[in-house]
Amino acid sequence: MDVLKKMIVEKGIVKGKDVLKVDSFLNHQLDVDLLDKIGEEFYRRFKEDGITKILTIEASGIAIAVMTARYFKVPVVFAKKSRSKNVDASAYTAKVISFTRGTEVDIIVSDKYLSKDDTVLILDDFLAKGNALDGLMEIVEKSGAKIAGAGIAIEKGFDEGGKRIRQKGVKVESLAIVKSMDENGIVFAE
Ligand code: 5GP
Repeated sequence: MDVLKKMIVEKGIVKGKDVLKVDSFLNHQLDVDLLDKIGEEFYRRFKEDGITKILTIEASGIAIAVMTARYFKVPVVFAKKSRSKNVDASAYTAKVISFTRGTEVDIIVSDKYLSKDDTVLILDDFLAKGNALDGLMEIVEKSGAKIAGAGIAIEKGFDEGGKRIRQKGVKVESLAIVKSMDENGIVFAE
């Protein structure tokens, strides 16, 4: 998606070897026009897949999910992150190692909001090692719902997550795949 790639090149900041900061348009300050275009593009790629619900993870996935849901006209459910042991027994949970913090968190979705009748599109801002996506897929599996696929704004193609999850047969659609990045610039896969 050219408009997203252009924004990444113009405004993204590469931190160290493996962190891309997109705070000025995607996950701190939000460029609503860009988010709308992202939503439209996910709709184009998944509109034939019978989506009944969009699932994401707090906090950075929520804006992307909400804008995409305007096209699908379905509800958004976001998994909450919790460090508490006191999780409602009827909730679906999974453990995720946070990319940014390196610590393990429980992610939780109430069983009120996902059921076996749902076909779920999972959305997130980044795909790196695939831990967040694994956790969200585990939650969908526990609910008995069907996974239609995963839509990712920015995939870090040099991390193994995308390849590993596609090999499981999951439809993963990434709008910008970064092949390499360093202080000299960012190279996209295609
Ligand atoms: P994974 O679980 O696939 O390793 O990483 C995906 C999650 O970590 C996403 O939910 C995203 O919020 C965060 N993440 C991974 N890489 C980056 C990055 O380069 N920049 C930012 N801002 N977040 C990232």
